[in-house]
Amino acid sequence: MDSSKNRWVNWSETQSCSPQQIAFPSTEGELIDCIHSAIKSDMKLKVVGSGHSFVGAALTDGLLIDLSKYNHITNVDTQNKQVTVQVGKKLEDLNPEIWNHGLAMSDLSDIAYQSVAGAISTGTHGTGIGFGCLATQVVAARVISGEGEIIDCSPEKDADLFGAAVIGVGAAGILSTVTLQLEDAFNLHALEMPMPFDFVIDHQDEFVKDNEHFEYFCHPDLSLALTKRNNRTAKPGKPLSPLGRWYHDEFIIGYLPKLTRLAKQAFPQLSKYLTHEIMVVARDNYIDRSYSVFASERKQYGCEMEYFIPKKHAKEALARVLDFVKGSGLKISMPIEVRWSAADVFPISMCYGRETTSIAIHVEMGERYENYFVPVETIMMNYEGRPHWGKMHFQTSSTLAPLYPKWDEFQKARQILDPKGIFENAYTKRVFGPI
Ligand SMILES: Cc1cc2nc3c(=O)[nH]c(=O)nc-3n(C[C@H](O)[C@H](O)[C@H](O)COP(=O)(O)OP(=O)(O)OC[C@H]3O[C@@H](n4cnc5c(N)ncnc54)[C@H](O)[C@@H]3O)c2cc1C
Repeated sequence: MDSSKNRWVNWSETQSCSPQQIAFPSTEGELIDCIHSAIKSDMKLKVVGSGHSFVGAALTDGLLIDLSKYNHITNVDTQNKQVTVQVGKKLEDLNPEIWNHGLAMSDLSDIAYQSVAGAISTGTHGTGIGFGCLATQVVAARVISGEGEIIDCSPEKDADLFGAAVIGVGAAGILSTVTLQLEDAFNLHALEMPMPFDFVIDHQDEFVKDNEHFEYFCHPDLSLALTKRNNRTAKPGKPLSPLGRWYHDEFIIGYLPKLTRLAKQAFPQLSKYLTHEIMVVARDNYIDRSYSVFASERKQYGCEMEYFIPKKHAKEALARVLDFVKGSGLKISMPIEVRWSAADVFPISMCYGRETTSIAIHVEMGERYENYFVPVETIMMNYEGRPHWGKMHFQTSSTLAPLYPKWDEFQKARQILDPKGIFENAYTKRVFGPI
């Protein structure tokens, strides 16, 4: 175990802490030793993946366990199309490795920098009404409790512990390895184009039904929405050129909002025109490996809140958000992202028990977010909105508990997986209450 006084900062630089110790275990034995050592020293501990959560889910002033060296595939079962992996592995490393075995994950989020554990345990999702969050791809998990006990669980064995540990936000045991159900490697055909916003809103249910993966970005000032449709194809790859990739990943997502904001301050009408024109040329039509299409590069920092509401409320809720922004005088440069996910059965999944639409709002790094995020959260609460566990929100256990029918089940499992509250921190106490 490495031991030194250190400062840890998350990716978006919205959270930081000064743990007493930071450890980098590379074996399960070392990981368990870390827990015993923390118990002996009466320290709290947190495990951290890639630090891509915007909230303080991974903060601790005790022992911080960085799993970046615990990152190997331990088994590939090509017959059953399953992989077992140490959970510190980043998705961006896992995907090409399983591709070499002819396998792929069914769905991914829009970046792949996350660790397997980090992505799974916050309910991270992609888009597609036929696809659950990434946790739904887990068929077995090896979990370590707050007392250092190993528990092998699955939907068939200790299902209650499995459900709580897999989406447990680091508060219900440490995931050690997980087995993921994969499928044969496949290419995706990506079609990205702007469309009139009113047309998209009127036809979004058809787009969602007719495409495996559909999402769009819209902006209160614009009459266009940037739509993305990804569907499987047996056709060979026809990837984006490097310039196209830069334009797609960095310019549209990263630099455009900055330019828009700067222009907006100086020439409000010009900025609207510029954004509109750029949206019009933001077209892509390409075929690539699934993981290269699902996830893009993200080098620009920012801050994000995302709410998950029942699909049936999507249009009304989005209209209220847009009306709020228009009437607020806020100068929002970043677009709003709208995605869909299937219902699942994990007790604290944002998609538990309901087909879901998620609405994500963003600000650039350094921009104030409270006067935007708080009112939008209030709107979402009218629709039983559940916040993404890894993104900004202002809820507490008392407001969250009524949103999750299996909340008590999660709390019971948490008691078993963390009887002495060793995995507690300020965030888990706020959102789940104390053990
Ligand atoms: C640019 C960007 C894009 C994003 N895009 C999406 C998206 O498309 N869809 C989406 O849903 N989310 C998205 N997110 C959110 C992101 O997927 C989640 O916040 C995710 O948790 C980050 O993974 P991580 O490895 O960085 O985890 P961390 O932030 O390091 O940790 C997250 C939580 O996981 C816990 N944890 C880590 N390892 C373990 C373990 N071994 N056992 C138990 N708990 C553990 C931590 O303690 C913490 O509570 C995005 C975030 C960013 C910054």
